[in-house]
Amino acid sequence: MTSTASDGLLPTPRPTIATLPTYVAGKRPPARPGLTTFKASSNENPYAPLPEIVDAITQVAGQVNRYPDPGASAMIAALASRYGVPAEQIAVGTGSAGVLQQILQAMVDPGDEVIYAWRSFEAYPISVGVVGGRSVQVPLRHERHDLDAMADAITDRTRVIIVCTPNNPTGTIVTSDEFDAFMTRVPTHVLVLVDEAYAEFVRDPRALQGMAALQRYPNVAVLRSFSKAFGLAGLRVGMAMASAELAASFRATAVPFGVSDLAQAAVVAALQHESVLLERVAQIVRQREQLVQALTASGIDPGAPQGNFLWLRRGDASADLVRACEDNGLMVRPFLTGDPQGAGVRITVGEPEADARLLAILTGTR
Ligand SMILES: *Cc1c(COP(=O)(O)O)cnc(C)c1O
Repeated sequence: MTSTASDGLLPTPRPTIATLPTYVAGKRPPARPGLTTFKASSNENPYAPLPEIVDAITQVAGQVNRYPDPGASAMIAALASRYGVPAEQIAVGTGSAGVLQQILQAMVDPGDEVIYAWRSFEAYPISVGVVGGRSVQVPLRHERHDLDAMADAITDRTRVIIVCTPNNPTGTIVTSDEFDAFMTRVPTHVLVLVDEAYAEFVRDPRALQGMAALQRYPNVAVLRSFSKAFGLAGLRVGMAMASAELAASFRATAVPFGVSDLAQAAVVAALQHESVLLERVAQIVRQREQLVQALTASGIDPGAPQGNFLWLRRGDASADLVRACEDNGLMVRPFLTGDPQGAGVRITVGEPEADARLLAILTGTR
């Protein structure tokens, strides 16, 4: 036995940690003999990576005994040229969820407030809590961001406002007109973070475009993911674009070597083959629009989803819908906790057969 300077106590985590919501990952389908199952629960891209992307990953696989390029310079150069933004305005990290954490770490002191809509992306309350910030959740109005109420919620402790468009899980967008009106009410020292994880799936011409907002407002940052449209969820890589000063602070809080060489190579290859990837996105968008039409025709209001997923606010009936989907081999993402009126189900649009099965379940033919 080693003797220690015992004070009779054991190490305890910060009290906030016990209060953090746990991130509920989308369920994987159990194997079902005789039934093809689908994972429509995580908004992933159903297409396997292009062979050129697999090749690029394979080429660097033999050097994983070495740390990756810490500055991700080739990847950032490719992103800078693709998005027309100087490299110093880009920060990357382990998924856009990782970049979000970097941003909050750079901006939020304990007790500072972060405003965002609710429901929205489940990672927000966790990431804000981790840095000791205070979440100010502003209820959606008709499934959309209530930007007036969000502006009303600004106090002298507000440091960051997150605008998620399209919003996960409701699929609704913020329009550029709404955003411009909102920005007239946001003090310039408050960072407005536009989370555009689903930007490539948007077809509504009125939608806010983060890149345009970035050019226009010095206090805007844009968050982009390579997990959804680019189909690289398993590699964990995302990016933010902001002023050079802000981007430098988002890099300063990064986990060292967080973005692997595999991820860096995959992003560079994905940008080289972006048109093929965007054709896949267009196919998913066509399926989304077909589902919207079919549901509307059978008297179900799907709203106007702009991501790669549908949102069905079923209230009390949500659990039944989840069960019916799972019984039919379709894993979906339930949102059942909290306000019962707000309960609903998020379903990723991907494989045509899964779409057909969903439609059959919803219209009672299955
Ligand atoms: C999926 C998602 C992300 C995070 O994706 P990463 O895989 O971490 O890049 C961020 N924001 C929203 C709204 C999402 O739905």
